Amino acid sequence: MAAGTGLLILDEYAPGPSDSVISALSPSADGPASPEPSGPSSTATAPPDSSAATLPSTSSSASAADGADSAPDDDAGPSAAEPPVLLRSVEEEATKGTGDLSVVEGESTAAGDGPLKRYLVEVEKGLPGEAEDFAAAVEEVLGDERGWIGDGDLSLQRVDSGPVDFRVTLAAPDTVDEMCHPLQTNGYVSCTMGGRAIINQNRWVSGVEHFEGDLETYRIYVVNHEVGHALGHGHVDCADPGEPAPVMQQQTFGLQGCAANGWVHP
Ligand SMILES: [Zn+2]
Repeated sequence: MAAGTGLLILDEYAPGPSDSVISALSPSADGPASPEPSGPSSTATAPPDSSAATLPSTSSSASAADGADSAPDDDAGPSAAEPPVLLRSVEEEATKGTGDLSVVEGESTAAGDGPLKRYLVEVEKGLPGEAEDFAAAVEEVLGDERGWIGDGDLSLQRVDSGPVDFRVTLAAPDTVDEMCHPLQTNGYVSCTMGGRAIINQNRWVSGVEHFEGDLETYRIYVVNHEVGHALGHGHVDCADPGEPAPVMQQQTFGLQGCAANGWVHP
C-alpha cells in the first residue's frame, strides 16, 4: 500500500505550542500540525539539578515480563497469579469515559543515563480496566533499555505531580478524537498532542489484527511510538522488509513488510 495519505490521516504528531522540550526534528510528521493550544499546558522542563539522584537500578519491582515470550495462560509458574505487567487489564473496548483525566499515583526511579525527563501517567475515568495496570505497563516500557533510554542520552522517571516533560494518557476513543483535534484519529488510533502521548483505550485492549494476537508487542509499540513523538521524533517507513519495523513507523496501519516491533532497539 502506498504511503499516500488518502482519506485517513491518523496517528499524527503535532507538537503543542508550549512544549518547550519538544523540538520537531523530523519533517515527516504528517497531518496538519496544529498551532492551536489543546488543553492545559502541561509541560515544563525539569530542572537540570533535579534532586532525584539517579539510582543504579532501573528495574521496577514488579515482576518483569520483558524478554520472555509471555504466554499468559501457559503452564503455571511459581507465581502464576497475575499476568505479566504488559498484559494486565485486557478488558472490553469502550466508546467513551467520563471525560475527566485522573493522574495515577506512583513514582519510579530514574532509568537511564543522561538528562532527566519526568513524565506522569493519567487515565480517563470510567474506562474498563485498572488505571494502575496501565501505569505499570508504561513504566515498564519506558524503563527498559530497549526503549528510548537505550540511546544513553536521556533518563526517564515517572512521577505523579509536576513539573513534567510529557504525559502518557489512556482515553476512550471519543475523548482521543477530541483531545487530538484537529488531527483525525477517527475513534481508532492514538496521537501525540500538546505534550501528551494519548493512547486509545480500544487499541490498548485489542491491538490491531496484523500483530496477530501479540498484544504485548502492540502495547510496547504504542507506548514507545507516541512517547517517541513527545520526544521529538517523526515518522519513518519500513526500510528493510523482514526486519523489525522501526518504532516510529506507523505500525497501526500496516507493517510494510517489516515485522511487528515495539522497541527502539529491538
Ligand atoms: Zn505516529
